[in-house]
Amino acid sequence: QTHFLFLSLQAKMSRPVQARRLEGIDKNIWVEFVKLAATYSTVNLGQGFPDFPPPDFLKEAFLRALSEENHMLHQYTRAFGHPPLVKILAQFFGKLLGRELDPMTNVMVTVGAYQALFCCFQAFVDEGDEVIIIEPFFDCYEPMVKMAGGTTVFVPLRPRAPKDGKLMSSADWQLDPAELASKFSERTKAIVLNSPNNPLGKVFSQGELELIAELCVKHDVLCFSDEVYEWLVYDGKEHIRIATLQGMWDRTVVIGSAGKTFSATGWKVGWTVGPNRLLQHLRTVHQNSAYHCATLAQEAVAQGFQRELMLYGKPDSYFVQLPKELQKKRDWLVQSLDAAGMKPIVPEGTYFLVADISKFKSDVPDVPSSDEPYDSRFAKWMVKNKGLAAIPLSAFYSGAHKNNYNHFIRFCFAKEEATLKAANDILQKWKQEKTSP
Ligand code: PMP
Repeated sequence: QTHFLFLSLQAKMSRPVQARRLEGIDKNIWVEFVKLAATYSTVNLGQGFPDFPPPDFLKEAFLRALSEENHMLHQYTRAFGHPPLVKILAQFFGKLLGRELDPMTNVMVTVGAYQALFCCFQAFVDEGDEVIIIEPFFDCYEPMVKMAGGTTVFVPLRPRAPKDGKLMSSADWQLDPAELASKFSERTKAIVLNSPNNPLGKVFSQGELELIAELCVKHDVLCFSDEVYEWLVYDGKEHIRIATLQGMWDRTVVIGSAGKTFSATGWKVGWTVGPNRLLQHLRTVHQNSAYHCATLAQEAVAQGFQRELMLYGKPDSYFVQLPKELQKKRDWLVQSLDAAGMKPIVPEGTYFLVADISKFKSDVPDVPSSDEPYDSRFAKWMVKNKGLAAIPLSAFYSGAHKNNYNHFIRFCFAKEEATLKAANDILQKWKQEKTSP
């Protein structure tokens, strides 16, 4: 009898358990590479997070919030954002965007920028809608569009060789205006813009943003503007906010992250800023999914922004100091990779840097019949044999285009000097092994 019971139970378990919307998105590169880094790496320049602490004023704000008399900071707060945080975000972004913002209707706090993105796709993308994504892209955009029932349409940034044997810059990767225009149609619901861009570090120019804005207005398309690296811009470059361009405020959701802004990725505080006609729908998704993110973290981030508003543009501002520090780290890693022969593409922004591994191909033989892109096999080999973790660039391309750019890997340079020095030691030793007979 037990035997029959077992058989009937087994029969019941044979139908697929997962919803159809998960089909094709069940494999995730981060699961694999985070595990590889944890198992093998001595130096981890893979996943994007600082290995240095957040600023003291932010940690102190958290401790103050934790120990304050106001024990209500341990309880639920307003679903769409803790009032002190949405108020200061409205003031701060009002200044940046040059318009008066209502904290209750133009700002919504999310569980990191991740959930802000998720809310956008769920709130605006219907079955059959197309969403344009610029390649290479932060990889979660694609599964999020699919989960919402939408169709992804990809348009690549195309590299141009730099003149005079100079190092390539992320600015050498550009959109082809005609190609971009050809992707817009009556089916297009939205475009995702990520400037400064992860993984290349490209900071889109005024001209490029105007081109995107014109197409959005012409085709009545929304723009999800992922600006999580807004403060990480180098060499005096300026981060231009697409929501400030003509006709764009009403169709743009601006997305930000305290994780990147204050070097506290584990806090998972993010936000959206935009017109109420769009944010009202984000609120519906948020209300019915995450509800809100940790009150204490929101309180501390609010205090962080209060300090930054007071010091805005001054040398003591964290938003001035952090990019200054990171630019030094960028230059250091650029030099180290260049000396080792792994040609870096100098990023204008973010804390990522993409490097060309062509010269190292002899160490990791190609297997032309393999389905796995070459850079992915290279990155796995590197972490296992050299202890250095990085992410293959193909991870930031759609399935059909993964083999178009398969000889680059991405490094994160938001790391302590000692970590970058250890990476340099590995790279220079590797180079010596290659050159010595
Ligand atoms: N957008 C981009 C471009 C990112 O690189 C990241 C984090 N790697 C996120 C969004 C997610 O940010 P958060 O950690 O605030 O969820």
